[in-house]
Amino acid sequence: MPGPDDVIKEIDRVTLWTFENIFMQVYWAEEKKEESERGIKTLRDYLHLVSTISSRLEGGKVEVDIWCGHSFLTKDYPEGTPEKDKNDPKLFFDSRPAERGGQTAVRPLSTCGTTFLPDGTEENLFAFTEDITTPTGPIELIVICADMFEHWNTNPIGISGSLQNLRTATLVKRPPLDVLTWNVATLLLHEISHSALMGPGDGTRDHAYRWKNLVKLTGEKALNNADSFAYFIIAMYFDRNNWASGLARALPGDGSGVVDADAED
Ligand SMILES: [Zn+2]
Repeated sequence: MPGPDDVIKEIDRVTLWTFENIFMQVYWAEEKKEESERGIKTLRDYLHLVSTISSRLEGGKVEVDIWCGHSFLTKDYPEGTPEKDKNDPKLFFDSRPAERGGQTAVRPLSTCGTTFLPDGTEENLFAFTEDITTPTGPIELIVICADMFEHWNTNPIGISGSLQNLRTATLVKRPPLDVLTWNVATLLLHEISHSALMGPGDGTRDHAYRWKNLVKLTGEKALNNADSFAYFIIAMYFDRNNWASGLARALPGDGSGVVDADAED
């Protein structure tokens, strides 16, 4: 009878644990072979999806425009625009070039500023994404709001430096993954996952933000949540840590990257 190690032998154990925590999709137990196999398949499919998205980006197969702020949405309408359109607070003139889908009146799904989260609370919007139709095909429009840049590179435990440097650093204070996701890279991953052109399926939704909330999602909601996608990728990028608990922990075995705070005492 195959044991748990046979089921997961091709997949790194920490990847499995992290996936299990973020998506609540996979576990293994000899007596629950079918569920275990279904979970492993879900993980394999997800890893495949991540590499597909990555090759779409690297291969330039999807056109992406990234704007800092939504200043291209103006109230300067061209001559002949009806008064009622000019007075419509939700209608804007998209002043981007026509070949990128601009020069037309639009009702954007979001604008920078205050937004309402799924749980009804208000928050400043840090970015938004729209799939735009242009004369030559679809493009992905990602807008990073000014509020994001104000918070850029700040975090509550004083870790600074590029993600690349942090990846190889020894994270002795066992920071939560939340701290390492407070950056533009994670924001872009989150936004890209919303894209019907690039993301999983028709693009993800926002069912929950941050570790403590997203780990409560189950089933399709978990697989289809933007922050879960971004967190999983960032956790995989910081592959010298075990993120199964949401905090940077030493890897099993040699634990080469991280010094566990408990182990230092
Ligand atoms: Zn989102």
